[in-house]
Amino acid sequence: MDYLPALIAELGGLEIADDPATLRLKSRDFFWFSPLLKRQLEDCRGDVVVRPRNIEEVMKIAAVVAKTRSKITVRGGGTGNYGQAVPLEGGVILDMGALDRVISLEPGVGTFEAGATMLEIDKALAPKGWELRFYPSTRKQATIGGFVAGGAAGAGSCTWGQLSDPGAVLAVDVVTIEEEPRVMTLEGSDVRKVLHAYGVNGVIVSVTVPLAPAHTWAEKIVVFPTLEEAAAFGQAFTEADGIAKKLVSVFDPRIPPKLGRVGKLVPEGKAAAIVMVSEPQAGAMTEIAGLHNGDVVFERGAKEAESAAFEGHGTYGPLYEYTWNHTTLHALKRDPAITYLQVKFPPENNLEIVNRVASEFGDEVQLHLEFQRRFGRVTCSALPLVTYSTDERLYEVIERLEALGAQVSNPHTYVLDNAGWKRVDAPQPEFKRIADPHALMNPGKLVS
Ligand code: FAD
Repeated sequence: MDYLPALIAELGGLEIADDPATLRLKSRDFFWFSPLLKRQLEDCRGDVVVRPRNIEEVMKIAAVVAKTRSKITVRGGGTGNYGQAVPLEGGVILDMGALDRVISLEPGVGTFEAGATMLEIDKALAPKGWELRFYPSTRKQATIGGFVAGGAAGAGSCTWGQLSDPGAVLAVDVVTIEEEPRVMTLEGSDVRKVLHAYGVNGVIVSVTVPLAPAHTWAEKIVVFPTLEEAAAFGQAFTEADGIAKKLVSVFDPRIPPKLGRVGKLVPEGKAAAIVMVSEPQAGAMTEIAGLHNGDVVFERGAKEAESAAFEGHGTYGPLYEYTWNHTTLHALKRDPAITYLQVKFPPENNLEIVNRVASEFGDEVQLHLEFQRRFGRVTCSALPLVTYSTDERLYEVIERLEALGAQVSNPHTYVLDNAGWKRVDAPQPEFKRIADPHALMNPGKLVS
């Protein structure tokens, strides 16, 4: 830490913190969902937190970091799951939270500073009649820069696919970590050089994304006698292109009891679906549910649902905060032995494989499905709840899932190279040589 006094002196005038409580807080993310990562990352700490207010300050920090050869870890909301924002080798933590402005807004397209949260962006877009196409269930805390660098999909993916799909991110501005930092604009498929790259390839300072026309999203919980019927509904409803929808999440009957107050809305032993559907078309959704023996047990109009999300009003909070990896968070609160996996089902026979997996593992693996539309086809992925016993058993479960025809992306590793199907097929190591020539960014995350 010999470099620290010189670095802090050079950064005079910027917002800096190095007290132990802030260092601990800003050195963590949600790696503790994984018992393996918990063992490996619990004690990692940065040496100093710097919070720039604008791009000029980011460039100043980048120059000082390059000159002093300090390590640097970029941080958005710190909601990543694989220790992505955890500094493995100490150094500077660059907290992007104060770069939170809407830079420009045109019909169908918006440019945002990287530290803006997805919720605040949607609040700014709502009066103009636009919305983000999709956001993670951590919408409230997750920044758009952190989503691009660390995320994948979320509420809205049932209509708009995933971040790595062509056109999902139109452009990013990236500050390089050099003695004389540059701002590089990546557009079109070049964006993939920083997509899901865990912040090893320059500091993203702004993000341009396509927008969707805003809808009034009603929320519903529908219950079904079995997971098989609920999954068949999820598929049929997501395939119903004429109905605007934002979320289609399906739960094994054993999961709702782990979801606190919202779980209590589901009668015992029933499978469930949480759905966000365009309010005027909600009746059409209910008809499709009826064809699969589904009954609506909870509904909330769009106004109330928006006020739950935007203002935190109401008893339940927004229902998307029970889906995607929020399901694991709720389950972990009640059972610390729970962990999770990331599983994708091929569109050709996704429901067949879902049924195979559901009947294979008993209580050890419990499925919740997130339906998605990609490249004109509907399929689902899952973040199954897994009861952890040993590392060996966890890897056996992964092997068995793959043998049953599912694809697993291992969330129990902090190394980008091991990220399985979530890795982006782009020249990311080559771009690192340009954006981070001294290899100071998030060291240890990109092994190759
Ligand atoms: P951080 O955790 O701060 O950072 C993530 C990575 O991006 C780190 O490697 C960091 O170094 C890098 N980074 C951050 N900002 C920048 C920047 N400006 N420039 C360069 N690199 C940067 N993910 C999903 O995709 N979908 C979900 O639905 C979802 N649900 C979740 C639910 C829960 C309960 C939890 C804990 C996590 C969930 N996640 C989900 C993971 C995570 O919330 C998202 O990926 C989120 O978008 C990360 O944003 P963040 O701002 O918190 O990023």
